[in-house]
Amino acid sequence: MGKTSKDKRDIYYRLAKEHKWRARSAFKLMQIDDEFHILRGVTKAVDLCAAPGSWSQVLSKRLYAEDKNAKIVAVDLQPMAPIPGVIQLQGDITALETANQVIEKFSGEHADIVVCDGAPDVTGLHSLDEFLQSELVLAAFTIMTRTLKHGGTFLAKVFRSRDSPLLYAQMKKFFKQVYLAKPRSSRASSCEAFLLCIDYSPPEGFQPTMERPSIDRNRELTQEELMNECYIDFVSCGDMSGWDSEQSYPLDLQLSYPRGSNVFASSRYVFHDVVQPPINPPYKKALELKRAGKLEQSLWEIRKAEYAKVREVT
Ligand code: SAM
Repeated sequence: MGKTSKDKRDIYYRLAKEHKWRARSAFKLMQIDDEFHILRGVTKAVDLCAAPGSWSQVLSKRLYAEDKNAKIVAVDLQPMAPIPGVIQLQGDITALETANQVIEKFSGEHADIVVCDGAPDVTGLHSLDEFLQSELVLAAFTIMTRTLKHGGTFLAKVFRSRDSPLLYAQMKKFFKQVYLAKPRSSRASSCEAFLLCIDYSPPEGFQPTMERPSIDRNRELTQEELMNECYIDFVSCGDMSGWDSEQSYPLDLQLSYPRGSNVFASSRYVFHDVVQPPINPPYKKALELKRAGKLEQSLWEIRKAEYAKVREVT
């Protein structure tokens, strides 16, 4: 791909670079916040699956820049470059140890909001991807039950699927309001959406635990759930006359965000490098091998070893 083709194809990618956001995802959180004001009055936030850190940047800007006592804890498998006011943890959110570390950082206090933009490495097998994504949502939910204050907000990326109504129904048991938010910067063609749960009020007697999943996913919906609880409001966020994430725009455009404002406007296209290249991406080794002309050989050796293992087992 040429240096400018991605910029041309994806207006939010380009806007992100111009506004110094580490990822285009920043616009998703901002558009949801602009619609629902979920960050109003918030001083303690947990950002799960946070790398490269654009949501943490938004949290830093909207919380920490306003109040230096704000506490933001960000977690990811990948390392992240520092962001003002953000405490970073490197770990797996499905592991008990990571959850305990997040809880420790709040030293007995509760968060006002827990957000999770987690996405597993896509395998291309749709059902497997869906399953892995739902595992992340479940892990985020489990950490949330330990860290969120009553009345707090939970926001999690989901891929809409056949099983989504069960998730919505379960969330309605824990929160007074549940919505599915679709920001303008999230491609309309993608099944990605954001489950927004407001006013945490767990069922009486509910004991948060990390030892077992808090959502029972292995059961059929009851008739009552099917009839009453599975439909939640789907809310589009962001200016509908604003930049469309599905379109390709010419490079010589006046670029502003929100569209029409003069927050930033450049009349002539200038290429910008990505704001924060990944520190230690999983594909780093493959790139090194490729540069050294050893990738093919290495892949062949991995396959040979896998084949030998299979033969050993069978
Ligand atoms: N919200 C981020 C931002 O604005 O920069 C983008 C998040 S990116 C779409 C998804 C992230 O989920 C990746 O950085 C990935 O490492 C992380 N992730 C996936 N599985 C995880 C896990 N089990 N524990 C922690 N992080 C995980």
